[in-house]
Amino acid sequence: MATIIDGKKVSAEVKEQVRQETETLVTKYGKKPGLAVVIVGNDPASRIYVNNKKKACETVGFQSFEYALSEETTQEELLELVQTLNADEKVNGILVQLPVPKQINDKAIINAISPEKDVDAFHPENVGRIMIGEYSFLPCTPAGIMELIDSTGIDVSGKKCVVIGRSNIVGKPMAMLLLHRSGTVTICHSKTENLAKITKEADILVAAVGKANFVTGDMIKKGAVVIDVGMNRLENGKLCGDVNFDEAKEKAAYLTPVPGGVGPMTISMLMKNTLTAFKLQNHIF
Ligand code: NAP
Repeated sequence: MATIIDGKKVSAEVKEQVRQETETLVTKYGKKPGLAVVIVGNDPASRIYVNNKKKACETVGFQSFEYALSEETTQEELLELVQTLNADEKVNGILVQLPVPKQINDKAIINAISPEKDVDAFHPENVGRIMIGEYSFLPCTPAGIMELIDSTGIDVSGKKCVVIGRSNIVGKPMAMLLLHRSGTVTICHSKTENLAKITKEADILVAAVGKANFVTGDMIKKGAVVIDVGMNRLENGKLCGDVNFDEAKEKAAYLTPVPGGVGPMTISMLMKNTLTAFKLQNHIF
C-alpha cells in the first residue's frame, strides 16, 4: 500500500520558508517582494488560479499587483503593460496567466517579459539556462515535483525515471531536472511504442498526459514513486489525475493524490521564484 505524498503539507512548508525569509528581508531592506499577475479575459479557471496566487502572496508577505484586462485586449496593449511592469522596481516577478485570448500571441508576450522577472521560467533565455544547468528560476510545476520527490527521502541518482508527456511547461523541463539529479530518464509521448513496458521499469514515474486514469496499475513497477501531474475535469465536475489512484496505490511505494498533490506545489514554487527574483534584483545573495 502506497504512502500518499501530501502536497498540501509540503507546499505549506515551502510557503512557510518563503514567509520567514521574506520577513527577515523586509526588516533588513525595508521593501517587499512584488508579484504582478496579469489576467486577460474571463476564463473561470484562470480567475481561480489568479485568486489563489494573490492569496499565496498575502500568506508569504509579498505585495501583489493584479491587472485584469478585458477579453478584447490587443497584443500591443498587453505588450505595453509588460514593458511598464518590466520597468517597475516594485514588481520583481511578472506572470501573465495563460491561456490568453486568440488575438494575442502568447509566445510574443512571454518573450517580452524581462528574463529576470520571468518567475514562470517560460522565457527562452530561462529555458536555455535550465538546459545547461545554470538557472535562477525553475518552472513551477516540475520544481514542485522535485520537492515532492525529495520529501520521500528517495535519491534520484541512478534511478530509472520515466516522464509521460513532453510539453514545454511540464514534460521536458521535468525530464531535465531529473537528469540534473543523475536520474536515467526516458521521455514518453503519444508516439511511444510499448508504453506500458517502459513505464513498468520506472523507479520514478511522472504522468503529465492530460487524460483521466491513463496510467493503470499494470503500468507501474512495484515500489515505484508515482507522481500524478494530471488535472482532468470529469463530467460530474470532479477533478481527476492521469493515474488510476486506486490501482496505483496497490503498486507504488509513494503516490501523489489529485487534488492535493502536485497542484498546491505549483503556487508555492511561484512564491519561491518571486523571492529569488527579488533577491537577484536587489543583489542579495
Ligand atoms: P500537454 O501539453 O497537452 O501535453 C500532454 C503530453 O501527453 C504530450 O506530450 C502528449 O504527447 C502526451 N500524450 C498524450 N496522449 C498520450 C498517450 N496516449 N501516450 C503517451 N503520451 C501521450 O499537457 P501539459 O500542459 O503537459 O499538462 C499535462 C497535464 O498536467 C494536464 O492534465 C494539465 O492540466 C496538468 N497540469 C497540472 C499542473 C499542476 O499544477 N498540477 C500544471 C501544469 C499542467 P505528444 O507530444 O506526442 O502529443
